[in-house]
Amino acid sequence: MLTSHLDVPHEGRTFRRGAPGYEERRRATMWNARVPDRYPEVIVQARTERDVVAAVKLARREGLRIGVRSGGHSWAGNHLRDGGLLLDVSGLDEVTIDRKARRATTGPGRAGNELAEMLGRHSLFFPTGHCKGVCVGGYLLQGGFGWHGRALGPACMSVIGLDLVTADGERVYASAEENADLYWAARGSGPGFFCVVTRFHLRVYEKPEVTGFAFQSFPMSRMEDVFRWARAVGPSVPASVELQLVMTRNATGVGGPGIEVFAPVFAGTARETFDALAFMNESALGPSAALKADFIPATLPLLYSAVMHHYPDDHRYAVDNMWTHAPIDDLLPGLRKIAETLPPPPSHVLWLNWAPPPDRPDMAFSVEDDIYIALYAGWRREKDDDLYASWAGDRMREMQPLASGCQLADENLGKRPARFVTSENLARLDRIRGDRDPKHSFHAWMGRP
Ligand SMILES: Cc1cc2nc3c(=O)[nH]c(=O)nc-3n(C[C@H](O)[C@H](O)[C@H](O)COP(=O)(O)OP(=O)(O)OC[C@H]3O[C@@H](n4cnc5c(N)ncnc54)[C@H](O)[C@@H]3O)c2cc1C
Repeated sequence: MLTSHLDVPHEGRTFRRGAPGYEERRRATMWNARVPDRYPEVIVQARTERDVVAAVKLARREGLRIGVRSGGHSWAGNHLRDGGLLLDVSGLDEVTIDRKARRATTGPGRAGNELAEMLGRHSLFFPTGHCKGVCVGGYLLQGGFGWHGRALGPACMSVIGLDLVTADGERVYASAEENADLYWAARGSGPGFFCVVTRFHLRVYEKPEVTGFAFQSFPMSRMEDVFRWARAVGPSVPASVELQLVMTRNATGVGGPGIEVFAPVFAGTARETFDALAFMNESALGPSAALKADFIPATLPLLYSAVMHHYPDDHRYAVDNMWTHAPIDDLLPGLRKIAETLPPPPSHVLWLNWAPPPDRPDMAFSVEDDIYIALYAGWRREKDDDLYASWAGDRMREMQPLASGCQLADENLGKRPARFVTSENLARLDRIRGDRDPKHSFHAWMGRP
């Protein structure tokens, strides 16, 4: 329903709760088929920055708190809150590329895999997320684990500026030099950011010459050996390799419960690739793998396809996660229980060897650790919610004493509050919010007022 009396200019579209089209739009804002029973008063679909300004002003006039949605891949549906105005900026998806300067700009509604493809045509690269359809809006604000992310850092480190609409409805540019408080906050505050991003300005990189992966898989009976090995080699794995262990009830090459060891690599030459993957090929576990491939060359689209079979559309998902540096003997009891209770595919567990360098730029993003463990429950039927919806949160709650925090990529804060930035940075975020959004015009993280 187009409501012209609202001060939302030309191309923006507005749907009031109860009006025709509202529920269809509300549901369509979610990628997760488990759409929460939370109902904004108004949904505005913005097409331009002017629409965004008008929507923010509309929210102020009507006293509506704002939730923002770019690609709708928040597992928890963070943008869907009761009451308030839901501002859908998925229509802001323009990309510009400056090959010579190695710079790009992108609207928040552009999917990372599409951005990667556009950059690739210019032999350029950006650490976009691992899954198709995840949009840069939410991805960059929460940090961003992307391809080649161990070498390039969380993707937010490659954001050099942002075009924003503030809680006053003012358009501002934020960078290290201008509105530096907002620039600091935008790199890591994720679903608690208190402006609307209408454009990201990015540093982009030369495309790595060689991309591909090594692969091994093992039956679940080898679980303990595989995790011991991964924990031991983790700190020495070259930054050009993202070592991932995926536990599933249908591991490739096993045909049943097991662990896939997937090691994507991004390198300049064949020699570098070979050296980087030596830890896999020399692993004492290798000869007993159910399936083993020393190196499979793969383009980025192929890597995306490989990952996506763990994340089919039209499923109901519930996720949770933890950062840890705990010794493997402490982690194993929790991992065993996870394995015993793991729901059927596409549910799975991700162990990501992150091992970050000690120095990072000053930004809100501030909690990371050697290992990232994320649990993804995925199922089809609503009637199975009782069986699977609490699995990830329950297992992570049990392992909480071993966690140093959680990552906003797979947050479950509404159900299980956890530390996602340092307490110093949380206090600083609260101060900046107090200055920039004193009336709390934007929703904060779920589970927190
Ligand atoms: C299948 C799948 C795979 C994933 N893979 C990865 C991965 O490989 N690496 C990784 O790091 N993460 C990954 N994620 C997590 C994902 O990056 C986050 O959920 C991210 O928030 C999604 O961004 P979005 O724009 O699509 O989502 P949205 O749901 O639209 O955004 C999430 C939140 O960010 C805020 N936000 C979004 N856009 C704006 C904006 N323009 N202005 C202000 N605030 C905004 C809002 O609070 C919003 O609720 C994955 C998620 C899914 C569902």
